[in-house]
Amino acid sequence: MTIVSSDIQLASSFLKEGKLVAIPTETVYGLAANIFDEAAVKGIFKLKERPLFNPLIVHIHNLAQLEELANELPEKAKQLAAAFWPGELTLVVKKKEIVPDLITAGKDTVAIRMPKHTLVRELLQQIDFPLAAPSANPSGSISPTNAERVKEYFDGILPMVLDGGSCSSGIESTIIGFEGEEAILYRLGAISIEEIEKEIGPVKQNTTNDSSPEAPGMLLKHYSPKTSLILSTDIKKTLGKFFNKKIGVLVFSNALESSSILHQEVLSETANFKEAAANIYEALQRLDHANLDIILAEKLPDKDLGKSLNDRLVRAAAKD
Ligand code: AMP
Ligand code: MG
Repeated sequence: MTIVSSDIQLASSFLKEGKLVAIPTETVYGLAANIFDEAAVKGIFKLKERPLFNPLIVHIHNLAQLEELANELPEKAKQLAAAFWPGELTLVVKKKEIVPDLITAGKDTVAIRMPKHTLVRELLQQIDFPLAAPSANPSGSISPTNAERVKEYFDGILPMVLDGGSCSSGIESTIIGFEGEEAILYRLGAISIEEIEKEIGPVKQNTTNDSSPEAPGMLLKHYSPKTSLILSTDIKKTLGKFFNKKIGVLVFSNALESSSILHQEVLSETANFKEAAANIYEALQRLDHANLDIILAEKLPDKDLGKSLNDRLVRAAAKD
Protein backbone atom coordinates (compact mmCIF):
# COMPACT_ATOMS: atom_id res chain seq x y z
CA MET A 1 0.00 0.00 0.00
CA THR A 2 1.23 3.45 -0.86
CA ILE A 3 0.89 5.90 2.04
CA VAL A 4 -0.66 9.24 1.05
CA SER A 5 -0.06 11.74 3.83
CA SER A 6 1.22 15.23 4.59
CA ASP A 7 3.52 13.88 7.34
CA ILE A 8 6.88 15.54 6.60
CA GLN A 9 8.64 13.57 9.36
CA LEU A 10 7.63 10.29 7.78
CA ALA A 11 8.67 11.48 4.30
CA SER A 12 12.06 12.60 5.59
CA SER A 13 12.71 9.33 7.42
CA PHE A 14 11.76 7.32 4.32
CA LEU A 15 14.14 9.40 2.18
CA LYS A 16 16.95 8.99 4.73
CA GLU A 17 16.40 5.20 4.59
CA GLY A 18 16.82 5.27 0.80
CA LYS A 19 13.13 4.89 -0.02
CA LEU A 20 11.41 6.81 -2.80
CA VAL A 21 8.83 9.46 -1.88
CA ALA A 22 6.67 11.45 -4.29
CA ILE A 23 6.82 15.13 -3.39
CA PRO A 24 4.47 18.01 -4.09
CA THR A 25 5.93 21.02 -5.87
CA GLU A 26 4.28 24.07 -7.42
CA THR A 27 4.90 22.63 -10.93
CA VAL A 28 3.99 18.92 -10.81
CA TYR A 29 4.56 16.08 -8.32
CA GLY A 30 8.10 14.70 -8.34
CA LEU A 31 9.42 11.19 -7.66
CA ALA A 32 12.21 11.93 -5.19
CA ALA A 33 15.35 10.29 -3.85
CA ASN A 34 18.59 11.36 -2.15
CA ILE A 35 20.93 12.37 -5.00
CA PHE A 36 23.86 10.65 -3.24
CA ASP A 37 22.08 7.31 -2.77
CA GLU A 38 22.85 5.40 -5.96
CA ALA A 39 20.46 2.54 -5.29
CA ALA A 40 17.59 4.92 -4.54
CA VAL A 41 18.26 7.02 -7.67
CA LYS A 42 18.39 3.85 -9.77
CA GLY A 43 14.99 3.07 -8.24
CA ILE A 44 13.58 6.27 -9.77
CA PHE A 45 14.65 5.23 -13.28
CA LYS A 46 13.30 1.73 -12.72
CA LEU A 47 9.93 2.81 -11.31
CA LYS A 48 9.37 5.32 -14.11
CA GLU A 49 10.94 3.11 -16.78
CA ARG A 50 12.93 6.20 -17.62
CA PRO A 51 15.91 5.79 -19.96
CA LEU A 52 19.23 6.30 -18.15
CA PHE A 53 20.32 8.87 -20.76
CA ASN A 54 17.65 11.29 -19.49
CA PRO A 55 19.17 13.28 -16.59
CA LEU A 56 17.28 14.32 -13.43
CA ILE A 57 16.60 17.73 -11.91
CA VAL A 58 18.18 18.30 -8.49
CA HIS A 59 15.97 20.12 -5.95
CA ILE A 60 17.62 22.36 -3.34
CA HIS A 61 16.37 24.81 -0.73
CA ASN A 62 19.20 27.32 -0.35
CA LEU A 63 22.15 28.85 -2.17
CA ALA A 64 24.70 27.02 -0.01
CA GLN A 65 23.49 23.78 -1.62
CA LEU A 66 23.84 25.39 -5.05
CA GLU A 67 27.46 26.19 -4.27
CA GLU A 68 28.12 22.60 -3.20
CA LEU A 69 26.84 21.25 -6.51
CA ALA A 70 27.68 23.84 -9.17
CA ASN A 71 30.79 25.62 -10.37
CA GLU A 72 30.91 29.40 -10.78
CA LEU A 73 27.67 30.40 -12.51
CA PRO A 74 27.31 32.53 -15.64
CA GLU A 75 26.17 36.07 -14.76
CA LYS A 76 22.75 35.50 -16.33
CA ALA A 77 22.23 32.36 -14.23
CA LYS A 78 22.79 34.44 -11.10
CA GLN A 79 20.31 37.05 -12.33
CA LEU A 80 17.70 34.40 -13.10
CA ALA A 81 18.17 32.67 -9.74
CA ALA A 82 17.77 36.02 -7.97
CA ALA A 83 14.62 36.81 -9.95
CA PHE A 84 12.83 33.46 -9.96
CA TRP A 85 14.04 31.27 -7.06
CA PRO A 86 12.34 29.81 -5.22
CA GLY A 87 10.12 29.03 -8.18
CA GLU A 88 9.46 27.28 -11.46
CA LEU A 89 12.86 27.74 -13.08
CA THR A 90 15.55 25.08 -13.61
CA LEU A 91 19.11 26.15 -14.40
CA VAL A 92 21.51 23.80 -16.20
CA VAL A 93 25.02 24.70 -15.05
CA LYS A 94 28.52 23.19 -14.88
CA LYS A 95 28.60 20.58 -12.13
CA LYS A 96 31.08 19.87 -9.40
CA GLU A 97 32.70 16.44 -9.02
CA ILE A 98 30.40 15.60 -6.08
CA VAL A 99 27.30 15.30 -8.33
CA PRO A 100 26.88 11.62 -9.29
CA ASP A 101 26.99 10.70 -13.01
CA LEU A 102 23.69 8.86 -12.68
CA ILE A 103 21.95 12.20 -11.98
CA THR A 104 23.47 13.98 -14.98
CA ALA A 105 23.55 11.04 -17.42
CA GLY A 106 27.32 11.43 -17.49
CA LYS A 107 27.21 15.07 -18.59
CA ASP A 108 29.38 17.78 -17.09
CA THR A 109 26.29 19.88 -16.35
CA VAL A 110 23.60 19.53 -13.69
CA ALA A 111 20.00 20.77 -13.73
CA ILE A 112 19.09 22.55 -10.47
CA ARG A 113 15.86 24.03 -9.16
CA MET A 114 14.77 25.61 -5.87
CA PRO A 115 11.03 24.87 -5.54
CA LYS A 116 8.72 27.17 -3.58
CA HIS A 117 5.98 24.80 -2.39
CA THR A 118 6.04 25.12 1.42
CA LEU A 119 5.81 21.39 2.17
CA VAL A 120 8.76 20.47 -0.02
CA ARG A 121 10.79 23.39 1.34
CA GLU A 122 10.14 22.16 4.89
CA LEU A 123 11.08 18.64 3.82
CA LEU A 124 14.34 19.80 2.20
CA GLN A 125 15.21 21.64 5.42
CA GLN A 126 14.84 18.42 7.41
CA ILE A 127 17.21 16.34 5.31
CA ASP A 128 20.83 17.20 4.64
CA PHE A 129 20.91 16.12 1.00
CA PRO A 130 19.31 17.51 -2.20
CA LEU A 131 16.57 15.51 -3.91
CA ALA A 132 16.62 14.21 -7.46
CA ALA A 133 13.05 14.35 -8.70
CA PRO A 134 11.64 13.85 -12.17
CA SER A 135 7.87 14.05 -12.61
CA ALA A 136 6.06 11.27 -10.72
CA ASN A 137 4.63 9.41 -13.71
CA PRO A 138 5.67 6.47 -15.87
CA SER A 139 8.00 7.86 -18.53
CA GLY A 140 6.09 9.59 -21.33
CA SER A 141 2.69 9.76 -19.65
CA ILE A 142 0.74 12.71 -18.22
CA SER A 143 2.45 14.44 -15.28
CA PRO A 144 0.50 14.26 -12.00
CA THR A 145 -0.66 17.49 -10.34
CA ASN A 146 -2.22 15.93 -7.26
CA ALA A 147 -1.39 13.11 -4.84
CA GLU A 148 -4.23 10.86 -6.01
CA ARG A 149 -2.88 10.69 -9.56
CA VAL A 150 0.55 9.68 -8.27
CA LYS A 151 -1.06 6.91 -6.23
CA GLU A 152 -3.01 5.78 -9.28
CA TYR A 153 0.25 5.41 -11.21
CA PHE A 154 2.35 3.69 -8.55
CA ASP A 155 0.00 2.17 -5.96
CA GLY A 156 1.71 -0.55 -3.96
CA ILE A 157 5.13 -0.03 -5.53
CA LEU A 158 5.90 3.46 -4.17
CA PRO A 159 6.26 3.77 -0.36
CA MET A 160 4.75 7.23 0.05
CA VAL A 161 3.22 10.30 -1.58
CA LEU A 162 3.69 13.47 0.47
CA ASP A 163 0.31 15.12 -0.05
CA GLY A 164 0.60 18.85 -0.66
CA GLY A 165 -2.69 19.34 -2.50
CA SER A 166 -3.03 20.44 -6.11
CA CYS A 167 0.00 22.00 -7.82
CA SER A 168 -0.58 25.74 -8.24
CA SER A 169 1.35 26.22 -11.51
CA GLY A 170 0.48 22.87 -13.02
CA ILE A 171 3.16 22.40 -15.69
CA GLU A 172 6.88 21.66 -15.42
CA SER A 173 9.59 24.22 -14.78
CA THR A 174 11.16 26.27 -17.55
CA ILE A 175 14.71 24.97 -18.18
CA ILE A 176 17.50 27.37 -19.12
CA GLY A 177 21.06 26.29 -19.93
CA PHE A 178 24.13 28.22 -21.05
CA GLU A 179 26.76 28.22 -23.76
CA GLY A 180 29.42 30.34 -22.16
CA GLU A 181 27.52 33.43 -21.10
CA GLU A 182 24.69 32.93 -23.59
CA ALA A 183 21.35 31.67 -22.21
CA ILE A 184 19.51 28.88 -24.05
CA LEU A 185 15.97 27.66 -23.54
CA TYR A 186 15.90 23.85 -23.14
CA ARG A 187 12.27 23.46 -22.12
CA LEU A 188 9.28 25.80 -22.22
CA GLY A 189 7.54 25.76 -18.86
CA ALA A 190 5.65 27.51 -16.08
CA ILE A 191 7.63 30.74 -16.41
CA SER A 192 7.06 32.29 -19.83
CA ILE A 193 9.97 33.08 -22.10
CA GLU A 194 8.76 36.69 -22.15
CA GLU A 195 9.28 36.88 -18.34
CA ILE A 196 12.76 35.35 -18.65
CA GLU A 197 13.76 37.76 -21.43
CA LYS A 198 12.57 40.71 -19.34
CA GLU A 199 15.31 39.78 -16.85
CA ILE A 200 18.23 38.85 -19.09
CA GLY A 201 17.42 39.88 -22.66
CA PRO A 202 17.07 37.57 -25.67
CA VAL A 203 17.32 33.83 -25.06
CA LYS A 204 18.23 31.35 -27.79
CA GLN A 205 15.60 28.64 -28.26
CA ASN A 206 16.64 25.02 -28.48
CA THR A 207 13.67 22.93 -27.46
CA THR A 208 12.36 21.01 -30.43
CA ASN A 209 15.32 18.88 -31.49
CA ASP A 210 14.60 15.30 -30.49
CA SER A 211 18.21 14.23 -30.54
CA SER A 212 19.61 17.37 -28.97
CA PRO A 213 22.58 16.34 -26.85
CA GLU A 214 21.83 19.27 -24.50
CA ALA A 215 18.44 18.05 -23.35
CA PRO A 216 18.00 14.35 -24.05
CA GLY A 217 14.76 14.40 -22.10
CA MET A 218 12.93 16.55 -24.60
CA LEU A 219 11.60 13.56 -26.46
CA LEU A 220 8.91 14.38 -28.95
CA LYS A 221 6.28 11.95 -27.63
CA HIS A 222 5.65 12.89 -24.00
CA TYR A 223 2.87 14.01 -21.63
CA SER A 224 0.66 11.55 -23.47
CA PRO A 225 -2.80 10.27 -22.65
CA LYS A 226 -3.53 6.65 -23.63
CA THR A 227 -6.38 7.91 -25.84
CA SER A 228 -5.20 9.32 -29.18
CA LEU A 229 -5.07 13.09 -29.18
CA ILE A 230 -5.33 15.37 -32.18
CA LEU A 231 -4.19 18.98 -31.94
CA SER A 232 -6.13 21.40 -34.11
CA THR A 233 -5.87 25.05 -35.08
CA ASP A 234 -9.54 24.98 -36.17
CA ILE A 235 -11.29 22.71 -33.73
CA LYS A 236 -14.83 23.22 -35.06
CA LYS A 237 -13.71 22.11 -38.48
CA THR A 238 -11.76 19.14 -37.07
CA LEU A 239 -14.80 18.12 -35.01
CA GLY A 240 -16.86 17.98 -38.20
CA LYS A 241 -14.53 15.30 -39.57
CA PHE A 242 -15.16 12.88 -36.72
CA PHE A 243 -18.52 11.22 -36.43
CA ASN A 244 -19.42 7.73 -35.23
CA LYS A 245 -16.65 8.15 -32.68
CA LYS A 246 -16.68 8.81 -28.94
CA ILE A 247 -15.20 12.29 -28.93
CA GLY A 248 -13.74 14.36 -26.11
CA VAL A 249 -12.68 17.97 -26.51
CA LEU A 250 -10.12 20.20 -24.78
CA VAL A 251 -10.54 23.93 -25.48
CA PHE A 252 -8.86 27.04 -24.12
CA SER A 253 -11.79 29.30 -23.17
CA ASN A 254 -14.84 28.92 -25.41
CA ALA A 255 -16.88 25.75 -25.01
CA LEU A 256 -18.09 24.17 -28.24
CA GLU A 257 -21.71 23.29 -28.70
CA SER A 258 -22.14 19.97 -30.40
CA SER A 259 -24.15 16.88 -29.56
CA SER A 260 -21.27 14.70 -30.77
CA ILE A 261 -19.03 15.73 -27.86
CA LEU A 262 -19.23 13.27 -24.95
CA HIS A 263 -16.80 15.06 -22.63
CA GLN A 264 -15.54 18.62 -22.84
CA GLU A 265 -12.84 20.39 -20.80
CA VAL A 266 -12.52 24.19 -20.82
CA LEU A 267 -9.09 25.23 -19.50
CA SER A 268 -9.98 28.80 -18.51
CA GLU A 269 -13.30 30.51 -19.10
CA THR A 270 -11.58 33.90 -18.71
CA ALA A 271 -8.80 32.94 -21.18
CA ASN A 272 -6.19 33.17 -18.43
CA PHE A 273 -3.00 31.26 -19.31
CA LYS A 274 -1.99 30.62 -15.69
CA GLU A 275 -5.36 29.11 -14.91
CA ALA A 276 -5.15 27.03 -18.08
CA ALA A 277 -1.71 25.74 -17.05
CA ALA A 278 -2.96 24.82 -13.58
CA ASN A 279 -5.79 22.80 -15.19
CA ILE A 280 -4.24 21.21 -18.26
CA TYR A 281 -2.90 17.90 -16.94
CA GLU A 282 -5.93 17.16 -14.78
CA ALA A 283 -8.19 17.98 -17.74
CA LEU A 284 -6.18 15.54 -19.88
CA GLN A 285 -6.44 12.91 -17.13
CA ARG A 286 -10.23 13.30 -16.94
CA LEU A 287 -10.51 13.02 -20.72
CA ASP A 288 -8.25 9.97 -20.68
CA HIS A 289 -10.48 8.33 -18.05
CA ALA A 290 -13.71 9.07 -19.97
CA ASN A 291 -13.56 6.01 -22.21
CA LEU A 292 -13.31 7.99 -25.46
CA ASP A 293 -12.05 7.01 -28.91
CA ILE A 294 -10.36 10.32 -29.51
CA ILE A 295 -9.47 13.61 -27.84
CA LEU A 296 -9.52 16.78 -29.97
CA ALA A 297 -7.46 19.57 -28.45
CA GLU A 298 -7.51 23.21 -29.48
CA LYS A 299 -4.19 24.94 -30.08
CA LEU A 300 -3.82 27.93 -27.76
CA PRO A 301 -2.68 31.42 -28.78
CA ASP A 302 1.07 31.09 -29.35
CA LYS A 303 2.33 33.61 -26.80
CA ASP A 304 3.15 33.80 -23.10
CA LEU A 305 2.31 30.51 -21.32
CA GLY A 306 0.24 29.56 -24.38
CA LYS A 307 3.58 28.60 -25.96
CA SER A 308 4.40 26.24 -23.08
CA LEU A 309 0.94 24.68 -23.16
CA ASN A 310 1.11 24.19 -26.94
CA ASP A 311 4.49 22.52 -26.46
CA ARG A 312 2.84 19.98 -24.11
CA LEU A 313 -0.11 19.43 -26.48
CA VAL A 314 2.17 18.91 -29.50
CA ARG A 315 4.07 16.23 -27.57
CA ALA A 316 0.83 14.71 -26.21
CA ALA A 317 -0.39 14.41 -29.82
CA ALA A 318 2.85 12.91 -31.16
CA LYS A 319 2.83 9.29 -32.36
CA ASP A 320 5.45 6.74 -31.29
P1 AMP B 1 11.43 15.84 -15.74
O1 AMP B 1 12.17 15.49 -14.55
O2 AMP B 1 10.49 14.77 -16.21
O3 AMP B 1 10.78 17.18 -15.58
O4 AMP B 1 12.53 16.02 -16.85
C1 AMP B 1 13.72 16.72 -16.51
C2 AMP B 1 14.21 17.46 -17.69
O5 AMP B 1 15.42 18.13 -17.38
C3 AMP B 1 14.50 16.54 -18.85
O6 AMP B 1 14.00 17.13 -20.01
C4 AMP B 1 16.02 16.50 -18.86
O7 AMP B 1 16.55 16.20 -20.12
C5 AMP B 1 16.38 17.89 -18.40
N1 AMP B 1 17.74 17.91 -17.82
C6 AMP B 1 18.11 17.44 -16.64
N2 AMP B 1 19.45 17.57 -16.47
C7 AMP B 1 19.92 18.14 -17.59
C8 AMP B 1 21.23 18.53 -18.05
N3 AMP B 1 22.32 18.34 -17.31
N4 AMP B 1 21.30 19.08 -19.26
C9 AMP B 1 20.20 19.27 -20.01
N5 AMP B 1 18.96 18.92 -19.66
C10 AMP B 1 18.81 18.37 -18.46
MG1 MG C 1 8.45 14.35 -16.84
